[in-house]
Amino acid sequence: MKKDVKTLSLASLCVHGGSLSDTIAHGVNSPIFPSTAFRFLETNGNVYPRYYNTPNQEIVAQKIAALEHGEKGMVFSSGMAAISHTLLALLERGDHLVCQQDLYGGTHYFIVSDLAKLGIRYTFVDGTNLEAIEKAILPETKLIFVETPSNPLLKLTDLRAVVQMAQKHHLLTMIDNTFATPVHQNPIDMGIDIVMHSGTKYLGGHSDLMFGAIVTRAELMQKIHRQSVNLGGNLNALDGHLIERSMKTLFVRMKQQSSNAFAIAQFLEKHPKIARVNYPGLPSHPDHALACRQMKNGFGAMLSFEVKGNPLQVVKNLSLIAPALSLGGVESTITIPATSSHSKLTAQERAQVGISDTLLRLSVGIEDVDDLIADLEKALH
Ligand SMILES: *Cc1c(COP(=O)(O)O)cnc(C)c1O
Repeated sequence: MKKDVKTLSLASLCVHGGSLSDTIAHGVNSPIFPSTAFRFLETNGNVYPRYYNTPNQEIVAQKIAALEHGEKGMVFSSGMAAISHTLLALLERGDHLVCQQDLYGGTHYFIVSDLAKLGIRYTFVDGTNLEAIEKAILPETKLIFVETPSNPLLKLTDLRAVVQMAQKHHLLTMIDNTFATPVHQNPIDMGIDIVMHSGTKYLGGHSDLMFGAIVTRAELMQKIHRQSVNLGGNLNALDGHLIERSMKTLFVRMKQQSSNAFAIAQFLEKHPKIARVNYPGLPSHPDHALACRQMKNGFGAMLSFEVKGNPLQVVKNLSLIAPALSLGGVESTITIPATSSHSKLTAQERAQVGISDTLLRLSVGIEDVDDLIADLEKALH
């Protein structure tokens, strides 16, 4: 009997959403189709990897679209390909973009260097300040770009309020949903138009794949697709297969990672060597009530904290938690934002957004939470 995936819950969709039956060997997994040339007499239209329409690309796109409750999905070779192709498709010379000031660094640099070069203007605003967002809207504004929870301070933007504002001014809304994943946040259900992911992080989940994704309605996807064919940021079939495999465990990974993160946040908050903990699941977080309204199944697996003392010394004393860039893998990793992801900002700019030199950012993995806490305890001691 054929699977009816429409009625399935998130955990089941991770396993069964967007898959293709193997009609030759009858294996339970989708086959891999690495061809770049396809017989045009037998296929509907031209199939070609740079048209984003080969079977393994479509399988992954369908799985992500199902998880994000969207009409159409599309996968790219990186998160930045997803962002750049989408913004280039939807904006043109003379348009204006409102974005939250603490966007992912790569997104920030793309906007200020490449979009600016094309005559697309922008205003960065504090995403927690709805009045500031509305004030930044100009007659030329086309799109509001948000990222919540944000990196590395885990600040929250009220998605329903942003959608309301955008509808009032006839603007599109786009979110980078990388940190929350569809397990913890489904922005399309709240009215957001375009959801983007750096799949390199949680969707891949093993720190060994690079990809990006977009989910939106068909009419917008048509525009994004048209632009993306020319830019060529497509994914290959072998990676598509690995992504499909990885995403089958997304729900169980996120559940474990988020519950570990919650326990670690609670442990750190009580620790005398810790000055401050940023985690949306803690009642002490300024947007905890909002987190409870717009997130689900937990609050994600990213947290940051300020130590009383030298952050580099703490990092050097860790043995299980690896000092490594990137995030979202099954292994726990830690960074010092002031000297890594945010080193390109001036000290003054960092102070302005609230990133202190003693801030550490922790990406919590699936290890045993007691082992992780013991590692932190020892390092802080
Ligand atoms: C990593 C990341 C990106 C960029 O994704 P790549 O896959 O590195 O291109 C965008 N947004 C967020 C929040 C990220 O963490």
